[in-house]
Amino acid sequence: MKNPRQTGHGPRGASRPLDRYAVFGNPVAHSRSPQIHAAFARATGERLRYEPRLAPLDGFAEAVRQFISGREGCAKGANVTAPFKEEAFRLADERTPRALVAGAVNTLCFQDGRILGDNTDGAGLARDITENLAFSAAGGRILLLGAGGAARGVVEALLAFSPAALVIANRGADKAKALASAFAGERLAPRGMGFAALAGEPAFDLVINATSASLAGEALPLPDGIFAAESLAYDLMYGKGETPFLAQARKGGAARRADGLGMLVEQAAESFFVWRGKRPEAATRRSLMRQLRDT
Ligand code: NDP
Repeated sequence: MKNPRQTGHGPRGASRPLDRYAVFGNPVAHSRSPQIHAAFARATGERLRYEPRLAPLDGFAEAVRQFISGREGCAKGANVTAPFKEEAFRLADERTPRALVAGAVNTLCFQDGRILGDNTDGAGLARDITENLAFSAAGGRILLLGAGGAARGVVEALLAFSPAALVIANRGADKAKALASAFAGERLAPRGMGFAALAGEPAFDLVINATSASLAGEALPLPDGIFAAESLAYDLMYGKGETPFLAQARKGGAARRADGLGMLVEQAAESFFVWRGKRPEAATRRSLMRQLRDT
């Protein structure tokens, strides 16, 4: 399969039908991805159409096939959001190394009748933390809360920060232990545990909430002393106002706090790069983050 970045695009293709992209989810109406990719296309001069596609809970693969075989324009790729990331992984004919590590796919490329599956969540989180938030976790202690699809997708990116320790804690301790053991062969073996076992741990420099507790408006049962004054607390969830986890981090003394809006834009920029071979500039990405924050 050719690298999708090597396909020709741009002004010379102006007479061709628009390349088509979509985001598949259920629900999907809330997705900011169409707005983000339209802004990226404008900023980079790429001609494409990007639309939300509601897939039936039992009909993801069929919805993707229908999109690919649609007669209008040429379907080139798609994003995949909850609850279909694992199904997208199984649907792909080929998977990138980072998708294989994550066991989940959020980016599909359609080429020569085949489907390539990728995962840009880890790269998006890493770029938001290191570039937008200018935070370094090298040599520090990282705590990852949650052991679901999003947590699995970011472990490798967190290990690439070269921390001194990576602890994965989850409501169900067994799931945290299983996720940690999946990375046991890495240069630093993560440790998995339940929330209560965090009580004996020294404070963490970077605490990432990859649970969906904030979605339910719930704080996590974390023991005192998890956050240090200089810690960065990062909630993958984003939305209007402070999330329950970030309120908890503020009360726990973490001076630096961020929600997942930056990751959302950065994982989209990474998908755009995979599809079009162009990365929207930092100024474009940051102004988009501000716009999304205001709407
Ligand atoms: P999953 O359903 O795969 O995993 C959910 C995780 O949250 C599990 O670890 C689960 O624990 C835990 N959990 C759920 N409810 C609670 C609760 N009330 N208290 C404690 N733990 C809880 O979801 P994802 O991993 O796909 O998504 C997690 C979050 O990340 C979502 O909020 C999602 O919106 C966000 N996200 C943000 C992205 C971004 O770009 N900013 C990208 C991807 C995800 P258990 O195993 O015990 O059930």
